Amino acid sequence: MTNAWKTYSEQEKKEVMDFNDSYIDFLSKGKTERLCNQYIIELAKGFGYRNINEVIENHETLKPQDKVYFNMMNKSVALIHIGNEPIEKGLNIVGAHIDSPRLDLKQHPLFETDGLAFFDTHYYGGIKKYQWLAMPLSLYGVVCLKDGTTVDVCIGDQEGDPVFCITDLLPHLASDQMKKGAGEFIEGDNMDLIIASIPANDEEKDAVKKNVLNILKEMYGIEEEDFVSAEFEIVPFGKAHSAGLDHSMVLAYGQDDRVCAYTSLVAMLEQGDLDRTAAALLVDKEEIGSVGATGMHSRFFENMIAEVLEAMGDYSDLKVRRALQNSYALSNDVVAAHDPNYASVSSPHENMGQFGHGLAFAKYTGSRGKSGSNDSNPEYIAKLRKIFEEANVIWQTSELGRVDQGGGGTIAYILANYGMQVIDSGVALQSMHAPFELSSKADVYEAKKAYSAFIKNCK
Ligand SMILES: [Zn+2]
Repeated sequence: MTNAWKTYSEQEKKEVMDFNDSYIDFLSKGKTERLCNQYIIELAKGFGYRNINEVIENHETLKPQDKVYFNMMNKSVALIHIGNEPIEKGLNIVGAHIDSPRLDLKQHPLFETDGLAFFDTHYYGGIKKYQWLAMPLSLYGVVCLKDGTTVDVCIGDQEGDPVFCITDLLPHLASDQMKKGAGEFIEGDNMDLIIASIPANDEEKDAVKKNVLNILKEMYGIEEEDFVSAEFEIVPFGKAHSAGLDHSMVLAYGQDDRVCAYTSLVAMLEQGDLDRTAAALLVDKEEIGSVGATGMHSRFFENMIAEVLEAMGDYSDLKVRRALQNSYALSNDVVAAHDPNYASVSSPHENMGQFGHGLAFAKYTGSRGKSGSNDSNPEYIAKLRKIFEEANVIWQTSELGRVDQGGGGTIAYILANYGMQVIDSGVALQSMHAPFELSSKADVYEAKKAYSAFIKNCK
């Protein structure tokens, strides 16, 4: 394995740092899948991508080198850059997810108890619940009103905003709590966000709650019943950080999997003319099984390919199927990095991702004997080795830890359902799924380089 830092010239090191500055900016602005969706579409438009729904409505035709995007319910985005070759020959696809573990507000979130007002939450994705206690949190969301309008809410990250928190028990009174396993430190239903403590003057019962409703009415024009058609996410407060004395790392919320989403996106946008058609899938709901209309199990990407073929005057059901089956895909998701503090769970003998050793490939993921894994084909891996060697990409292989220690999945197996070649590849993280995750800037940079070479040269 090669340490990427040892290979960089001063100029390259500067490129690594500059690229990561833009990545840090993306993380700071894209703290929910909806905000990532907006950011991605704005950026793509600047590179000539057009909304495919407008192409359809205006009965326009598409031709090679045209670029289109599809916005799936403001939570997922698919980009297609049409190449010179017929689409039925297959696409080069990079896929990543833009949802991250967090706390969501319940449908009836607001309650008052003992003179304090709270929001009740339900966590999303695999978290260690105790990590979310006693730290500043921000609130993002949309409230959809009966008149068809949507109110955007973001509280916490703007200058002068208040923040929120879930309290933890003081050690002095925690003798019972400290005997529990970490999973029981706090029960899911006790993850209540404290939001206010001033009572409304004219109320006797639930006066603090009444005051909260007055504030919400004044600031956003929303009533208590509007929470039923709202979606609120609680995320760690603050911006993404450059980390380490040597600035070699990024410490931030949401790097799983926005690190792969951002690098896939930039790799897609920086392409010149292409031979094979390229696609980027930046999708929602991976953390809860890729289900729902905006997750990878949804058919929107397949439908989009059909629409593109139709707009090129070349549609048939068979061509859509051929296009998918003849595709090559990189399922770009984070992998666990070797952490010297927890070395006993690492896969031994160079089978674990290491910080600074480049993009990490996982032939298989899954758990208990590769269960649930897309076990990628060596013929395909050989093809990729050649592409990365020619593009001077630093890469490594990785599995998700020691055998039978746990495991996990990605969107790879869903793409593989179409019969295409797929492999998992991503950036290795420490503290994955924690409120703040750690990555190596070299790995972020190498990921972008690898995805770009794949999009251009895989055939
Ligand atoms: Zn994850």
